[in-house]
Amino acid sequence: MTPLYHLLDPLWRHFPFPAGHTFDASAFEDATVLRMARTYRGREILPVYCYVVGETLVDTGISSVADEVVTAARRAKVGRVVLTHHHEDHSGNAARLASFGAEVLATDSGVRLVAGELPRRFYQHVLWGEADPVKARVVPDVVPLGRFDAHVVPASGHSVDQLALHVPERGWLLSGDAFVAEKIKVFRGDEDFHESCLTLERFLTLDFDALLCAHRPRFTGGKEAIRAKLAWLRELEGRVKESRAKGRSVRRIVRELGIEPSSSFYTITFGDVTTANLVRSILDGPKRRVEVVRALSTAS
Ligand SMILES: [Zn+2]
Repeated sequence: MTPLYHLLDPLWRHFPFPAGHTFDASAFEDATVLRMARTYRGREILPVYCYVVGETLVDTGISSVADEVVTAARRAKVGRVVLTHHHEDHSGNAARLASFGAEVLATDSGVRLVAGELPRRFYQHVLWGEADPVKARVVPDVVPLGRFDAHVVPASGHSVDQLALHVPERGWLLSGDAFVAEKIKVFRGDEDFHESCLTLERFLTLDFDALLCAHRPRFTGGKEAIRAKLAWLRELEGRVKESRAKGRSVRRIVRELGIEPSSSFYTITFGDVTTANLVRSILDGPKRRVEVVRALSTAS
C-alpha cells in the first residue's frame, strides 16, 4: 500500500513554509565548521553541522541555506563532497554543489538513495526542506581530508546507508547522525537499534577525541560521549526486554521507561520519531520505509 506521505509529498514540496534560517562558519583546528538551522518565529530547529577540510566537504546541509553553503564551499575550492547518509539535512545541497563540478561520494546504498526523488513526510518538509536528486559515486575506503586521510567506517543504524570518517592523525571521528545525543530518547520508525549499537561498538575500537557529529559536535571528550551513549542504549535494552518478558505492551513499556519527551517537536512528526519506535526497534527491529526498500532494490 502506498503510504499517505507519498501522495502528499508533491504538495508539500511547493508549500511556502514560513521558515527563516541561520548560518555561521567557525574554525576547529584546520576544519571550517558550517553551522545552520531553519528557524520558525526566530527559534532554531535542531542545527545541522557540515565540515570543510581542505578540498573536501563532509555533508552539505539543508537546501534553504544553499547560497551560504555553496559560497563557503567555493571559497574553500571544494572539489569533493562526502555524504554521511542520504537524509535531506545532509544531502540538501549535494545537487547544487555537483552542478559546480564537485564530485559527490556516498556508500553504495547511499548512491542509490540520493539518485532519485524520495518522498518525505510532512515534518521533514517543515524541518529540513528538499534535497534534489544527485548522481553520486561509491566512496573509496580512504578519502583525502585536508593534510591527512580519512578512513571510511561503516555506521548503519540511524540509516541503512550511513558512514563515518575516522582521521587517526587528527583524533577526529566525523559521525553523521550516529551520535546526536548521549541519552537518546526517540527513534525514527526506520532506525535499527541493534545496528546502532554495533556501530557505536565499532567506534569504540578507534582512537579519537573530537566527535564531529552533524547535530551536536563534541570537540573534546567524544569517545567518552560514545561510551556513555552505548551504555544508555544497553540499559534501555535491558529494561525493555525485562518488561516484555513480563508481558507488557509497547505502550506500557514506554510509560514505564519514563523518558518520553513531551515537546511539540515530537508531536509534529506524527509518530515517526518516538520512544515507542525505540522500544519496537529493540524488540522487533526497524520498520523500513517503502521508498528506501524500493530504491535499494533497483539495480545501480
Ligand atoms: Zn539522519
